[in-house]
Amino acid sequence: MPKRFVLLDRDGTINVERHYLSHPDQVELIAGAGRGLAALSKLGLGLIVVTNQSGVGRGLFDLARLDAIHVRLRELLAAEGVTLDGIFSCPHLPEDGCGCRKPLAGLVESAARQFDFRPAECFLIGDKPCDLELGRAIGATTFLVRTGYGSQVSDETAAQAHYVVEDLGQASQVIGGLLRCR
Ligand SMILES: [Mg+2]
Ligand SMILES: [Zn+2]
Repeated sequence: MPKRFVLLDRDGTINVERHYLSHPDQVELIAGAGRGLAALSKLGLGLIVVTNQSGVGRGLFDLARLDAIHVRLRELLAAEGVTLDGIFSCPHLPEDGCGCRKPLAGLVESAARQFDFRPAECFLIGDKPCDLELGRAIGATTFLVRTGYGSQVSDETAAQAHYVVEDLGQASQVIGGLLRCR
C-alpha cells in the first residue's frame, strides 16, 4: 500500500502563532504538538508542512532566515522523536499572483511529485480558512485545529472542515480511528 501523507500547516498548527515569525528564537511548539505528530508518524503516515510565508515577500526576513527557522523547528521536533518528511513554503505576496500560495495547490502538487502521493488521499490539518479551502480543493480529508487562529474561526468556516479538533493530538486520534475502520 502506498504511503499516505498528512499535510500540515505550520504557524498556529505546529508552532505557536507569532505575527510574521521571523527568528528561530521565536519558534515554540504548541503544547502536545510533538506528541500528536509522533502519533501520526506511528500510524505510518508521512508528515509534510505546507506554509505561506509572505514575510519573505514583504522583506521582513529572507530565505536564509526562513531556513534557519525550519532548522530550529526540526530540532524541537526531533527532541520529541518527530521527523518531518518535507517543508514546502510559499515566499510570495498575495498580489504576486503565484500558484503556490495557499489556498492554491502549487505546494501540494510539488510535494506530491517529490513523494509520489495522491493529494486526495491526504489528511490536511490547519488553523485557517485558507487551509480548509486548499484541503477541499485537492479532495483531502480536512481538519481544523482550534489552536492558533483556529480559536477564532467562525462556526460557518469550521463547518467547511470534515473534522474540528482541539489540536494535533486529537487530530491524530481521529485519523487513527479512520485508518483502523477502513
Ligand atoms: Mg496557520
Ligand atoms: Zn507562492
